[in-house]
Amino acid sequence: MEYKEDEFLMLSGIQHFSFCRRQWALIHVENQWEENVRTIEGEFIHEKVHDQFSREQRNEKLSSRGMPVRSVKLGISGECDLVEFTKSAEGIPVRGLEERYLVTPVEYKRGKEKETDADLLQLAAQAMCLEEMLCCEIKMGFLYYNETRKRIEVAIDDELRKKVEMVTLEMHSYMQRGYTPKVKPQKGCRNCSLKEVCMPELVDKKSAAAYMDRMLDLARNGGES
Ligand code: SF4
Repeated sequence: MEYKEDEFLMLSGIQHFSFCRRQWALIHVENQWEENVRTIEGEFIHEKVHDQFSREQRNEKLSSRGMPVRSVKLGISGECDLVEFTKSAEGIPVRGLEERYLVTPVEYKRGKEKETDADLLQLAAQAMCLEEMLCCEIKMGFLYYNETRKRIEVAIDDELRKKVEMVTLEMHSYMQRGYTPKVKPQKGCRNCSLKEVCMPELVDKKSAAAYMDRMLDLARNGGES
């Protein structure tokens, strides 16, 4: 299956979808967005890497920052923080250069390694886009976390690829149906940038009643609790 341009979804949405499907739907299906410290901090890290789409060459390596990528098979598009092209006889030819290069995506992340596979899926999706665009094979990529300042090597294996395919299929299905899942409170709700819009505290009647009482009290007291 091939997606049309107007059906493309944001590649970066994979991390939201993997973290919480409702969060992704609120942002991408309902166009809700609330910036908080965490998202601003995350954007700051990306700005440093993505100042513009640029290429630089050092010895055996060519680096491309903020490189636009897309996949018609997955129906996603976005940008890679950094793509490294390393000289190798097993690599692909690059226009304007004589040697062949292996292609490796590097994704920069705030904080440290996460328990979920959100970052792995995003990196694998970038690798799959690059493979489709450049007709190459990518066996691994790197995740770089600003807190630990370490590059972690990630194998782009069949299991990860299958997950990316399933997740993107599910995202397209939600978008086509205009579907936003119901609230499922989780540990991550506390730091969620959309908790004011999502209102996970309204998930059961008891807490909904408490919330309404709080709101009525606030209204009676002119906004002061
Ligand atoms: S508040 Fe919780 S349930 Fe709601 S969008 Fe955020 S993470 Fe998901």
